[in-house]
Amino acid sequence: MSALGDVAAAFLPPEAGGPEPERVASVARRMVSRMPGVSQVGLGVTLAGIEALSLARTGRTLGAASPSQREGLLKQVARLGGSPALDALKSVVLLAHGADTFAAEIAAVGSRHEPARPDPQMTVVAAAEWPRTSSCDAIVIGSGAGGAFAARALARAGLDTVIVEEGERWTVDRIRAAHPLDRFAGIYRDGGTTMAVGNPPIALPLGRAVGGTTVINSGTCFRPPAPVATAWHEQHGLALAEPEQLAVRLTDVEETIGVAPASMEVLGRNGELALEGAAAIDWRSAPLRRNASGCRGACQCAIGCPNNAKGGVHLNALPQACEAGARIVAGLRVKRVMSENGRAVGVAGSRADGAEVRISAPLVVVATGAVPTPSLLRRSGLGRHPRLGRNLSIHPATGITAGFEEEVVPWSGVMQSVGIEELHESEGVLIEATGSPPGMGAISTPGYGSHLLSRLDRAAGRAMIGAMIADEPSGRVFGARSPIVSYRLAKADEGRLATAIEAMARVMLAAGATDVELGGGAPVVRSEAELKAAMQRLDVRRLRLAGFHPSGTAAAGSDPARHPVDPEGRLRGVTGVWVADGSLLPSCPGVNPQISIMAIAAGVGEAAASKP
Ligand SMILES: Cc1cc2nc3c(=O)[nH]c(=O)nc-3n(C[C@H](O)[C@H](O)[C@H](O)COP(=O)(O)OP(=O)(O)OC[C@H]3O[C@@H](n4cnc5c(N)ncnc54)[C@H](O)[C@@H]3O)c2cc1C
Repeated sequence: MSALGDVAAAFLPPEAGGPEPERVASVARRMVSRMPGVSQVGLGVTLAGIEALSLARTGRTLGAASPSQREGLLKQVARLGGSPALDALKSVVLLAHGADTFAAEIAAVGSRHEPARPDPQMTVVAAAEWPRTSSCDAIVIGSGAGGAFAARALARAGLDTVIVEEGERWTVDRIRAAHPLDRFAGIYRDGGTTMAVGNPPIALPLGRAVGGTTVINSGTCFRPPAPVATAWHEQHGLALAEPEQLAVRLTDVEETIGVAPASMEVLGRNGELALEGAAAIDWRSAPLRRNASGCRGACQCAIGCPNNAKGGVHLNALPQACEAGARIVAGLRVKRVMSENGRAVGVAGSRADGAEVRISAPLVVVATGAVPTPSLLRRSGLGRHPRLGRNLSIHPATGITAGFEEEVVPWSGVMQSVGIEELHESEGVLIEATGSPPGMGAISTPGYGSHLLSRLDRAAGRAMIGAMIADEPSGRVFGARSPIVSYRLAKADEGRLATAIEAMARVMLAAGATDVELGGGAPVVRSEAELKAAMQRLDVRRLRLAGFHPSGTAAAGSDPARHPVDPEGRLRGVTGVWVADGSLLPSCPGVNPQISIMAIAAGVGEAAASKP
């Protein structure tokens, strides 16, 4: 704890007006305690390394060093190649500090209005109260985008369906009452620290809750672009992407989760600036289509909507599945799918107290998401297909900030508000104006010490904008016990990222930005002329990247050699095991994928119910 406090004091010196280090450390600790052991060890090693360097260079422990010595040490660690480790530590400190600073405001904004809708009726049983052995017709593992729609189809077809979910249920009252950091650490897998290993390392956040990642996603809704859906159908032989059927299911999904364009009334200045910048250079832009009717612009999508406005599947498809008879077991981690003589016979899971729970069924649908699914299949003895875990796309995302003379307050309004599609088809670059929950967007703020503190003080005057690139399938999920993700950024994708940075900067400058921070080691720019020169110095591998849309690790299609899953969702090599999550998508959808996953998973559920 004291090492964490010392490093908090190095990043945010109390002598220069920074927060009480022990307070930051105690909040950060709540997040660290949710991280897997390996991440905790990584942070511990970094802390020990900084301490050792402090003793070697200053003769003092970090806690006893002066503010300028502490700042100098951090810079030295970065220069010695420790930037990725230091960034991880800095993210924890800044997230804890930001969430804590704004906790009261987050609570006040989140409870200003009555929820847009009450929590719906759902049959959710805590794992501790579920019998140790039971049986049913069909089990769906995972209650996210894919699992919810597959389960609804199975239950509506009359099958006694049990949905097994590792995460917990987050009701609107629970969301409103919890500290923002506990929302973050509680709803994200591994306290929000999942990463893809590579150069650069890439954050890969995943949800873990009843409703899966849809509980904390941004609510943006795109149908798969026509060329992508056509390729899935024609080149990969994915029957579930047959255009007419897919269109029917997409329409049903959109109606179920309530998709409509974001309202200008709550859009917020961050989104308006993106619209103004795009209009000034004649680029196509519009408020994004979202599943958030009744959105109040609380800008808290990423830590669970406090207004029940964003239509995650816990508010629609899951209750509809329950209405048709499905039951949800929450807090049960499936250890393995059980099979006998090549046929599914059920699942074995473990409760938080370690007790084993077995559920028998002849039909098991795996919907744990593109990262966990390959590992679950491997530890079930079902991971023999050589392409399982390969073919991972993550739709890499990056962002920039831009200073304005006015107050932008990018944490007020719709979190992900405006889309700019000018370079989408031609370059695979999709720009989306994206703020962050109050205080929680600070993690990518550059600098250390007093410089960092003054930047945090000026955060309200900076707009935030992000972009994603349609990537090559450059990643792979290893491991059986738990997933280990590697991702090697392809050369062509480096170029796309540079295009994305330049395009976002152009939009911000056209909107009247006084300065734009590009990241990636490039200098701050103040004009188009400076932008051209700065782009020469951009090192894409130094950008902060995140992948919010993993897909493709159990690709579905007609080629038994290429696709571990058949065109309707059956896992090859076993009877009665189906897959219904992001891992099915044969290639990067190039857009935010939840609608695609939901529609295809609904098709898997229908097929599994009718042709076991
Ligand atoms: C911050 C963020 C913002 C995003 N914004 C958008 C957006 O605006 N629009 C969009 O289209 N997409 C968005 N996405 C992506 C989108 O939410 C996901 O692509 C989608 O939810 C994936 O669906 P899925 O069914 O594959 O998995 P998930 O929705 O992740 O569901 C998988 C579920 O399985 C559970 N599970 C895993 N392993 C086990 C196990 N062993 N036993 C039991 N349960 C298990 C998990 O806990 C989880 O609840 C965003 C993602 C993130 C992280």
